[in-house]
This record gives sequence, C-alpha cells and structure tokens, in this order.
Amino acid sequence: MGYPDTFEGFAVESADKWTEPKYREYKPRPFEERDVDIEVQACGVCGSDVHTVTSGWGECPYPLVVGHEIVGIVKRVGDKCETGLKVGQRVGVGAQAWACLSCRQCKADNEVYCPQMRDTYGAKYPDGSITQGGYASHVRVHEYFVFPIPDVLETTAVAPMLCAGATAFSPLYRNGCGPGKRVGIVGIGGIGHFGLLFAKALGAEVFAISRSDKKKEDAFKLGADGFIATEKKGWNEEYSMTFDLIVNCANSSENFDLAAYMSLLDVNGRFINVGLPEGDGFKIEPFKMIGNGAVFGFSHIASRPEILKMLDIAAEKGVKSWVETLPVGEKGCGEALKRCHDNDVRYRFTLTDYDKAFPKK
Ligand SMILES: [Zn+2]
Ligand SMILES: [Zn+2]
Repeated sequence: MGYPDTFEGFAVESADKWTEPKYREYKPRPFEERDVDIEVQACGVCGSDVHTVTSGWGECPYPLVVGHEIVGIVKRVGDKCETGLKVGQRVGVGAQAWACLSCRQCKADNEVYCPQMRDTYGAKYPDGSITQGGYASHVRVHEYFVFPIPDVLETTAVAPMLCAGATAFSPLYRNGCGPGKRVGIVGIGGIGHFGLLFAKALGAEVFAISRSDKKKEDAFKLGADGFIATEKKGWNEEYSMTFDLIVNCANSSENFDLAAYMSLLDVNGRFINVGLPEGDGFKIEPFKMIGNGAVFGFSHIASRPEILKMLDIAAEKGVKSWVETLPVGEKGCGEALKRCHDNDVRYRFTLTDYDKAFPKK
C-alpha cells in the first residue's frame, strides 16, 4: 500500500518518548470534494510541535505526526475546489486545516477564530480520524488552507513562514505596523525573528526586546533599528510611552514584568501576545498599567488573506527567514524537536530530504 490509500510519517507515540518519533503508515481521513492532497517537500519545526508531543498543552492524541509549516506539491484536487489550485503546483499549509467558512467569524475573514476551527494536526474530524501533520509523505487539507507560494521564495526558507511567519505578521498587519510607527518585538526566537523581519518589511521603526545582549548582533542583522535588554533594573524608563505597538513572541511568562513592558506604550498603544507559554500566565496590575491607557490582547496565527499578503510582501521585499535544515526521519525529527525545545536553533528548523525518507511515494 502507498499513496493515495496510505500516508507515511514520523509519529510521536507517548509523552515520555517525545524525542523518539517512529516511522508509521496510516490511513488518511476520507477525501472530500474541497480537499487537496499535497506531497510534502519540507516542513518547519514549530514550538507548538514540542508543546503538543510533550503533552505540555494538555492531552495529545498519540500516536501523532506533527508539523504545520508545510511546503509541497499538489497531487490531487477535489471536484468542488474553487481556489484554482492545480496538480503540480507548489503550495504551503500552516497551522489550520479546516473551518466552517459560514459563521460570523469566517465570513469576516477571521476563519482563524472560527469556533469550529481544526488544527493541521491533532484535531478530530467527524469520521473520528485525527488530523496528521507534515513530518509525513503527504497531507490532506481543505483547499481554503492551501496557499500558492510565489516562485522567488525558496522552499526551505518559506516553510517556517506558514506558522511562525504568519503568527508574527497578523498582529503587525492588523495593528497598523507601518511607516512612522515604532514597534517592539519581544523574544527573538522562531516567531520573534519573523517579527523583526516583517515589521521592517512593513516600514516601521523596529526594536528588538530581549533579556540579555546575547542576540543583539542577530537582531540588527534581522533589520532592527534598536535593541533593548531587559535584565538591567529600570531598563524601561528611557523608552517610556514611546511605542505604538509591541508584539510579545516570548515563549515563557516566568518572571515577566508585564507592567514594565506595558509602560513602553504610547496612549492606546497595543501589547499583543502571540506566544502560548505553559504555566500560570501574566500578572495584570491595574494601578501600574492605567497610566497610558494601553491595550493588552492576543493574536492567533493568521487568516488566509493575511497569509497570502505575507507571502506577497516576503516575495516583494526579499524577506529571508533564518533556517537550519535537518533531514526528515526518526533521527532528524527527534533532534529537531529536542533542539527546538532547548532553543538551540537560529531561528527555525526546516525538515528536508523527503524523497529519501519516503522513497515509496
Ligand atoms: Zn506553529
Ligand atoms: Zn466558522
């Protein structure tokens, strides 16, 4: 058996063996009329993959193939597809695989906030099957969540844009990042490095905000105009009420002095969180936070129009992700998950060599 009846992938089998994914064959869910099958060529390794396979975000439906920064080639297009995808076309898939497309949120191009949204991996379909991600030979996804990739963008560099890039781009784009605005990016990791790249591409003055000076040089190479290290006491005073927007990409809320970050914002400035740290979350201190009337909020991945816009801007402005590659396989996936967990990557892994791992396809 092989494609189209069987997909192959590298699945994590339990929380205590999350660094040892195993080769597995599995049946994809039934093909529906607006589905697309994609032969995977590359997949980024997201922090979400780690939070999921370790059960850090809650129970994980093992065995699970993760991966939601997928680039590949269209193999099959459902009869009722409307978005014009063609067999042989290079496309990307991010963290979302389905939404109802008829609710209030979906109709307003907020399908990413659809109450029925399904994730690319680990989500249950009505037939009982669980979605599987891109550490695999193929993925099956509703066409609305499949995005044509502009020719100039390299496969390995564009893969991490599908989740990390989109996650950074949406709050910037929605909250007015552009010329004349001062924007801060907190946490220079997978998502944060895209925050710097896209804030710059959108024309803002951008500051990297990091715990220590360790990533200062990288931040400037990524396009930052300024750098703030938060380890010194009183670090925020010099910049008080001078920012229009701050996007918090940090993956930890431990010892996070939220009031100090909020104090950087000008009146009605916005502090938007995209990270989902495990643990108790943020401390809201009204007396310390009322002084600038700033807004505290959240943002989750990105909508289809935003992802298409991001890819256009990346192509037009030559936005280039910093990626390290590893061959997809039991060893490569395990190493990528472990090193992603340890923040030992600059700034994203992309899994490659799919032809070698899945010769049967
Ligand atoms: Zn992700
Ligand atoms: Zn909906």
